[in-house]
Amino acid sequence: MVEQVLAAVRTAPNTTELRELPMPRVADDSALLKVEVAGICGTDVKMYRNPPFDDPVIMGHENVGTIVNAGPQFRRLHGVDDGDRVFVEHYVGCYNCQWCRIGEYRHCEATDWRTNTDARRYGYTTLNHPGTLWGGFAEYMYLPWNAVLHRVPDGVSAELAGLVTPLSNGIEWALLAAGVGYGATVLIQGPGQQGLSQVVACKQAGATKIIVTGTTKDRARLDLAVALGADETIDVTTTNAHEQVMDSTGGKGVDFVLDCTSRAGTAPVLFGIDVLKRREGTLLIQGELAAFPDFPVKLLTEKAITIKSARGHSYRACELALEQLASGRFPLERLSTHRFALDRVDHAIRSLAGDTEEQDVIHISLMPWLGRES
Ligand SMILES: [Zn+2]
Ligand SMILES: [Zn+2]
Repeated sequence: MVEQVLAAVRTAPNTTELRELPMPRVADDSALLKVEVAGICGTDVKMYRNPPFDDPVIMGHENVGTIVNAGPQFRRLHGVDDGDRVFVEHYVGCYNCQWCRIGEYRHCEATDWRTNTDARRYGYTTLNHPGTLWGGFAEYMYLPWNAVLHRVPDGVSAELAGLVTPLSNGIEWALLAAGVGYGATVLIQGPGQQGLSQVVACKQAGATKIIVTGTTKDRARLDLAVALGADETIDVTTTNAHEQVMDSTGGKGVDFVLDCTSRAGTAPVLFGIDVLKRREGTLLIQGELAAFPDFPVKLLTEKAITIKSARGHSYRACELALEQLASGRFPLERLSTHRFALDRVDHAIRSLAGDTEEQDVIHISLMPWLGRES
C-alpha cells in the first residue's frame, strides 16, 4: 500500500487545496475504498460557498469505489471482499438505535452533523477525526466498521452507480415519502439531476401524467426529461405555467408536486400549492428556506392538502436505485454529462453551480484516478 493519499481539501469558503495525507491505519474491523466516482450535487455547492465548519474537510458524499485492504472482521460484518465495487452511503450509523435497526441511517444521531458536533458523515467530517479520509474527493476513503455499504450489481459501471444518490432520493421522495403511484398526476419543478431522477421514479411507479418545469436555459434538460418518460414540459419563462397545468389536468390540478428547484425562493412552493388538486394534493419540499414570510397556511387548510419533507434516503431506496440502474430500463446514463479529475474539484463544483463555461451540466462525476493508473 502507498503511504500517502492525494486528497482535495476544502480549507476555506470556495477554496480547495490538493494535499498529500498519510494513509490511515486499517484495523481488523475497517477497510479502505479506492474511490472511482464521487458524485457532485447541489448540496456541495452550498457547503462549498458556506461551509458549516472552519476545519479542513474532504468533500464528496456520493461515493462509489472498490474495497481495498479490508480487515477480516470488516469482511465478515459486511460480506464483502477486496475488489468488490460498492456504493457507500454518506451516513455513518451507530447500528444500534431504532433508526439504524430499520435502515434509516439518515435519522441516526451519530451521523447528524446539525445536532451532533462529533458526527461522522462522508463529505462533512473534518480531517481531524481518526481515519482522516472522510470524503470522496480523494484517492482513498476510510471505511470504519459502521460504514453503510451497498454492493453494486455486475454490469453497472462506477459512473452509472454514481447516480445512486439522486436516484435513491427520487425513489425516497416521490414514492416512499409523497406516495406517487399508479394513475397519479405529478408536477416536478426543476429538471436538474434531482428532478430528472423523480421522473424515472414516478414513471416506474405508474404515474399517468408527469409534467416537468424549467426555464429557457434548461432546454436540453427538459428534452432529457421527455426521453426519461415525462409527458409534458413547461418553460416557465415563456409560458403561463398555471394555465398549462390546469389545461392538461382537466382543470383539476395535479395529485403531487415535487419541488426540485434550487435557490428559487418561495415561488415554487406557492405555485405548487396553487396547482395541487383539492383534498388529495401532496407537496414535497426540500426545506431550502430558513423561513417563509407570509406563508398561506389558510389556503393549505382550505384545499386540505399535505406537505411532506424530502430528506435524504433510506437503505431500501438505495437498493431500489441500484436495481433500477441495473435494469437498463431508462437511459439514465444520459444524466452523466461531465467527468473531472481530482485537481479540478473547484472547477467541478462551480460548473454544477453554473458559474463556468461548461455547457448542459446535469451530473458531474469527480473521478480521482481519471487520466492516471486506475
Ligand atoms: Zn448529494
Ligand atoms: Zn443509529
